[in-house]
Amino acid sequence: MAKIPRIVIVGGGWAGCAAAISAQQAGAEVILLERTDMLLGAGLVGGIMLNNGRMTAALETSFLGGHIMFEALEKTYRHRNISFPGHDHASLYDVIKVESIIRHLLKQRDVQIYFRSRVAGVSQTKEQVESVILESGEVVPADTFIDATGTSGPPGNCWRHGHGCVLCIQRCPAFGPRTSLVKMAGAEEYSLLKLDGSFGAMSGSCKLCPESLSLEIQERLKQCGVVVVPLPIDLVRPQKLKLKVCQQYAQNEFAANIILLDTGAVKLMTPFFPLEALRQVPGFELVRYSDPLAGGQGNSMRLLAMAYRDSTLKVDGLSNVLVAGEKQGPAVGHTEAIVTGFLAGHNAVCYALGIEPLILPKALASGALIAAIGDDLERNRPGYQSYTFSGAGFFQTMLENNLYSTDPNQIAERVATSNLTGIYNQALC
Ligand SMILES: Cc1cc2nc3c(=O)[nH]c(=O)nc-3n(C[C@H](O)[C@H](O)[C@H](O)COP(=O)(O)OP(=O)(O)OC[C@H]3O[C@@H](n4cnc5c(N)ncnc54)[C@H](O)[C@@H]3O)c2cc1C
Repeated sequence: MAKIPRIVIVGGGWAGCAAAISAQQAGAEVILLERTDMLLGAGLVGGIMLNNGRMTAALETSFLGGHIMFEALEKTYRHRNISFPGHDHASLYDVIKVESIIRHLLKQRDVQIYFRSRVAGVSQTKEQVESVILESGEVVPADTFIDATGTSGPPGNCWRHGHGCVLCIQRCPAFGPRTSLVKMAGAEEYSLLKLDGSFGAMSGSCKLCPESLSLEIQERLKQCGVVVVPLPIDLVRPQKLKLKVCQQYAQNEFAANIILLDTGAVKLMTPFFPLEALRQVPGFELVRYSDPLAGGQGNSMRLLAMAYRDSTLKVDGLSNVLVAGEKQGPAVGHTEAIVTGFLAGHNAVCYALGIEPLILPKALASGALIAAIGDDLERNRPGYQSYTFSGAGFFQTMLENNLYSTDPNQIAERVATSNLTGIYNQALC
């Protein structure tokens, strides 16, 4: 019987949570270290799932053996199968309820979660990390590590590249800023580089307090999940679309209208909107932001700390560190984080046991997305563009290569043809 490997995951966002489930399903002892007092990181404020090609990627990951994550998410959906400009068959999860449901799922799976456990250092021998060191001084050793610390902030980056600390859900001032295991272990990182030469990207949506909107808007949101309010012409700012990390929402409709989605909070599909201007729109006279608290001024900056990695998600120059989520490259979204999290969790166990790690084939949308980011690294243009299954360039690639499908039977068939059905559910030791 093979030894039981110990996997330490740093960062409990969607990527870290998916990696934890996957490594546990592969038979490992799993420790998840989270800097704050809640799981899900940026996922505490998002909510949009299954829109456009994300439906394909979610079904693929389910058939690969990651279904329990999507089954848990099912319980949290407030609205299913809705459309808004440029996006079809979306489901919206409840951002207030989702964290406790995922926390329960991980605990049921015997994942050991350490909250308020910010990694502040590493101990290593050349390319091999031996343990991570928490701010408290506690040393946590493992066979393999996964850096799932995301790319949001820290405040220095929001000051340098954005509009300052806007008090977003990452709560750096309270829990200490994001730090990167990859960087502490001496590996290189890169940033998204925008066309104008500036670095990083601004988060693309805000949250409003539901009860601060007119009763009519509240009612419509509850019923339909989406409300589109045309903006008076003097409040239309198309130049703001370029700031967005989520290029799938950089369409004129998102500048000409206020687009609201009901995620438990009210998701406002724009990176920021001056409060005094927003209050001029009928129905918004009393409106207030709930995230970021300074959403009238700006939003958090992201995609400033990505790792060079191979197609198994192992970091270049480090023998036992993998990456997942935004850390593995400019792939934006909960689904993108979950998909890469599952692969990293599985492969962390493969590396610990010395068995062949998995490379997802390009015949699957998830394999194609991971390969596309890898191609940018190989062509020496890291951070040249961002990727998502849900729109912009990569969704177009999915359409052109017949990768987009919403038919579960067709996707099950593709996964089966790749000989990978249930791979994330197989114990490796
Ligand atoms: C405002 C906003 C709205 C969004 N809306 C959507 C949406 O509707 N749909 C969608 O699909 N995507 C959305 N996204 C994008 C999506 O949320 C992210 O791409 C994805 O969740 C990133 O997940 P992650 O796990 O890679 O990183 P994160 O969510 O950033 O998680 C990283 C975690 O690591 C922890 N951490 C950092 N440093 C350390 C350390 N040193 N020690 C321990 N822990 C550490 C952090 O506390 C955090 O919990 C949104 C993002 C934002 C910011």
